[in-house]
Amino acid sequence: MAGGPLFVNEYHLFPAVDHFVLNEARNHPPPLSGRPGPGEAKPLYTTSEFADILQSPPPRWELLELDRYAMMSIQYSRGCPYNCDFCNVTVLFGHRPRIKSAAQIITELDSLYRLGWRGKVFFCRRQPDRQQKRA
Ligand code: SF4
Repeated sequence: MAGGPLFVNEYHLFPAVDHFVLNEARNHPPPLSGRPGPGEAKPLYTTSEFADILQSPPPRWELLELDRYAMMSIQYSRGCPYNCDFCNVTVLFGHRPRIKSAAQIITELDSLYRLGWRGKVFFCRRQPDRQQKRA
């Protein structure tokens, strides 16, 4: 099963993958609520809707072998109002910025700390508003 930016537009180039979860289908139950039974998983899950990031569950950091990573990433927001030519953020997440709550970010940082992570944390977010930056 695969998902994420690598697969969204060219998933057909990966015939060895049995199931794709594209766009924000992961956050739209149904179709992907719970664990599908044997033979129940579809080849493709996708949606054109954008998820409510305030309902986004924290990542399952405990499933990672943390010592194999140089840095952890926390997704602070999705979406961006701009249209830079080189960037796929708006294709993936739309133009309306959606921002996690402070409580969500603290929960994610705390869970990393509890698992023993003491390394760097990279915050993935949209660029600050350019008008505000100039002011
Ligand atoms: S996320 Fe950054 S690079 Fe991408 S469109 Fe927005 S401002 Fe441009």
